[in-house]
Amino acid sequence: MVDSPSFICDSMLGRLSRWLRVLGYDTLYRKDISDEDIINLLSRCNIRILLTRDRQLYIRVVEKGFKAVLILYENIIQQLSYIGKKLDLNLKVDPDNSRCSICNSKLVRVSDINSLRAIIPPLLRRSKRRFWYCRKCNKAFWKGRMWPNISRITSSALKNMRKKNL
Ligand SMILES: [Zn+2]
Repeated sequence: MVDSPSFICDSMLGRLSRWLRVLGYDTLYRKDISDEDIINLLSRCNIRILLTRDRQLYIRVVEKGFKAVLILYENIIQQLSYIGKKLDLNLKVDPDNSRCSICNSKLVRVSDINSLRAIIPPLLRRSKRRFWYCRKCNKAFWKGRMWPNISRITSSALKNMRKKNL
């Protein structure tokens, strides 16, 4: 089996970086990251793939021998389906594989809800839902209000990925 790819997103791809984390891909992102920082990071961990909207940075990075994908789309569904197809990504969200959209840490499935009393509201604790937890952010996640939107975007991206002319 091929290891799943890991990424660095440029400063313009914050939303895409959050989606990649939710999909389980190890993705570095900082709003204030400079081109020099990106090149330093790529040299230090040369397995990461740069995702960028900046053609000049793309050319610079590829000339140095690093892997990069230039993303021309602005729309998140098109961005996801484009790299999904190009890099053979799995665009189905499985929370057991997800990373925290805020900090990129791997989420852990919560086995003892009482251990998270302080951060999960009582009504939700009684709902028999599954919860996932980010140790670094001390935040709990569950299939809540955002879930229909997550499913809608990923299934549109999957559908779009099957189009020939993408
Ligand atoms: Zn986190």
